[in-house]
Parts: sequence; C-alpha cells; structure tokens
Amino acid sequence: MNGFFSEPAKQIPVSIECDVLVAGGGFAGISAALSAARQGAKVLLCEKLYMLGGLATAGLVSIYLPLCDGQGKQVSFSIAEELLRLSINKGADNVNAHPVPECWFKEANITERAKKRYQVQFNPQYFAIAAEQLLISEGVKILYGTSICDVSVKAGAIDYLIIENKSGRSAIKVKSVVDCTGDSDIFKLANANTRLHEKGNVLAAWYYKTENGKYLLKMHGFADVPESFGKADKPIKDARYKGVEAEELSQMTIDSHAAVLTDYLKQGEFSDDRMLATIATTPQVRMTRKIVGEYTLDYTEQHKEFSDSIGMVSDWRKAGPIFEIPFRTLYSKSIKNLITAGRSISVTDDMWDVTRVIPDCAVTGEAAGAAAAMSDDFGSLDVTALQTVLENRGVKLHEKDIDI
Ligand SMILES: Cc1cc2nc3c(=O)[nH]c(=O)nc-3n(C[C@H](O)[C@H](O)[C@H](O)COP(=O)(O)OP(=O)(O)OC[C@H]3O[C@@H](n4cnc5c(N)ncnc54)[C@H](O)[C@@H]3O)c2cc1C
Repeated sequence: MNGFFSEPAKQIPVSIECDVLVAGGGFAGISAALSAARQGAKVLLCEKLYMLGGLATAGLVSIYLPLCDGQGKQVSFSIAEELLRLSINKGADNVNAHPVPECWFKEANITERAKKRYQVQFNPQYFAIAAEQLLISEGVKILYGTSICDVSVKAGAIDYLIIENKSGRSAIKVKSVVDCTGDSDIFKLANANTRLHEKGNVLAAWYYKTENGKYLLKMHGFADVPESFGKADKPIKDARYKGVEAEELSQMTIDSHAAVLTDYLKQGEFSDDRMLATIATTPQVRMTRKIVGEYTLDYTEQHKEFSDSIGMVSDWRKAGPIFEIPFRTLYSKSIKNLITAGRSISVTDDMWDVTRVIPDCAVTGEAAGAAAAMSDDFGSLDVTALQTVLENRGVKLHEKDIDI
C-alpha cells in the first residue's frame, strides 16, 4: 500500500433501470436470469467477460456433474436439467471418457440409473453461445464487458449499482439484485457479512488439446477432495490461493499457464496431429468468499427436511447423500433486496465442496432469480409462494417427493 488518494466526487449517468439485476453470468447467473425473466421481470445481466458460463466455459470446467444421487434417483430438476440437456443438444464432448448416460434420456429404470450417474461433458464454446441465445430469446438484456464496481445502499437496500464498461462509469437503478459473481462481490461491496475460504485453493491448470482430430479436456490439477473420499491427486504446487485479491489472482494465473505448458510439452512437441488448443480465460478458483446467510447448511444435514427448501442437490463425490437447500442460505437480512446463488451460498466449509458445482449453481440460481422477481425484501418473502412457482416448473423440494 502506498498511501491513499481521494477520488474527486462526480456525477455519473443512470444508464439503465431494471427489476432484477443479475451480477455475473456463470451457471448461477444464467439460471437466475432465465428464472427471473420467466416470472415476468425486466432482467439485466452484467458480465465482466465477453461470454456466458463463467468457470464452466471460460474456465474450461465442462463436466456437468450429476443431477442424481448415484442410487438411481434424480434430485435436481427444472432449469438444472434444461441446461444440462441444452449443453449437449448438438452432441456431447469426449464421449469415450464420459458417455452420455442414455438411461436418463428414456423411461425410468432405477436399476440402470443406479449404475450411471446423470452427468455429461459438454463443449464449453457451444454452451456459451447456446445459453446466450436462450437468454436473449427469453427477454434478458446482457451487458458484456461490464464490471460491477460499487453499490449505493439506502435504508438497508441497494438502490443503485455502479458499473464500468467501454462506455465509462454509470449507475443502474435496481429493485433487487442477485449476486452471482461466485465471490460474493456484491455482498462485500454492500458491507454484508461474508467469509473467506481460509484454506485456499490448490492450483488448477485445466486445458484443452487436440489429438488425432479429437478435442480433449486435460484436467491437470484435479479436485482437492477430503482424504475420506480417497486419495487426492498430488497438487501441482504447494501454494494455495484465496482468489479474492488482484495480485494473487494474477500470480495464480501465471502459475497455471506455466503448469499447462509444462504438462503439455511433457507429452510431446506440437505437430499437425496434436496441438495445445484452449487455455482458461478466467482464474480456475473453486471456493473463495461466501455469504453468511440466515442459515448455514452443513454436510451432516443429509436427508434432512427443511420447510423452506427450494430444491435438492446430491454429492458429486459419492453415491447416497441428498441435501435439501433452505431458502435462508441464499440471503442475509442485512441487505433486504440482495440474494446470492452459485458457489457463494451460506454453507460450512465441509459443505462448500458439494454446493459449488454446476448443477447446484443452477438449482440455487433458479430459486434466487424467481425470488428476486417476486420480492425486493427476501426476509419477508412468502416462501410458500416461491415454492409453488418452483414446483409448478417441475422442481422437487423434498426428498419425500421423489417418486422413483
Ligand atoms: C478447476 C476446477 C474444476 C472444477 N470441476 C468441476 C466439474 O468437473 N464439474 C462441476 O460441475 N463443477 C466443477 N467445478 C466448479 C464449477 O465449475 C463452478 O463452481 C461453477 O461453475 C460456478 O458457477 P457460478 O455461476 O457460481 O460462478 P462462476 O462460474 O465463477 O461465475 C461468476 C461469473 O461472474 C462474473 N463476475 C465476477 N465478478 C463480477 C463483477 N464484479 N461484475 C460482473 N461480472 C462479474 C465472472 O466473470 C463469471 O462469469 C470446478 C471448478 C474448478 C475451479
């Protein structure tokens, strides 16, 4: 730190007004925007990159983890399933390594479904375009290259968000805000309570290569799973990264790039048959900053019924656990009209590795988007009315509702 500088106060234009502002266009943001638009809201999605999908596309994390519990029961529905199907509707990626589980695309047979989890590998470039076209067709306005850099809070609610993009700095007047930045950036800017992932992330260096005409994902630096789930891969480096500070994120990106190249060249030189194809254009961080919500869900709360459940998720790491997600994990009463979805919901550290994955982000995104269209005060939202909206779309709220 080299002292302080006082920014001169200046007037900026109010560029747009909307009902629901979705901050960030990863899987959570896509789901939230779609959901809010389907409730009739005027939705603006601001994304700092120039593509949708976040980690799942720009970060090359293209395995849509399971919508089922690994014992033949589907637990996540509606937009989570719609986006899975959209992601492969022109064909799946790398079907040798990740065959499309056909048993989930025909009449239910629990014995077959118990053998094959409902997950796919998709093409990230295709999904980014398909999601963009879907959102536009449903009336969502997308502003790319737009970072939300500040908020104005009046009487416990956000009235304006400050954005920066190619047109300069301007304000957006909002009724409600869905923080899908993955890092709880908007909660942090609004001075709501948030928590960092103290342990930090291991280095990931996932990339795509081409080999004999195939476009292949190389998962270099695999997951940092707890020892109780089996032997984790040896980390690429001893370093850990918290993922919320500019210089550290830059260093992480540089370390990741170097690891990609080293790993690739270990397999041979470039040739007409083999080439390094795509590197991530966003840092591959898993858990960074989450909100401290009205409820914090723990990994021990498997198979527990919550009266305010907004949907269910499974554990991608092992068969069996099912979790109902309480609505209270998505907001904190400290800022009335702010809600989150995706990898930043209010969970304990043990639970975080479960809820950070793509299907879970879609489940929480759908609920947060619908809630934001229905209310600008989440602490006093009629949760039963929200649940009815979700159920009418095909969401199952409770484990007891699963009929196979
Ligand atoms: C190495 C690695 C491997 C993984 N493997 C898998 C896997 O195999 N399967 C799986 O399902 N999940 C996997 N995950 C997790 C999963 O990909 C992500 O957690 C999930 O996609 C997060 O979605 P999200 O929408 O919550 O956040 P993100 O995808 O992070 O999206 C946040 C979006 O917000 C934008 N944004 C951020 N701040 C601002 C701002 N201030 N203004 C405007 N825009 C902003 C970002 O550019 C981004 O597009 C993996 C993650 C990593 C890092």
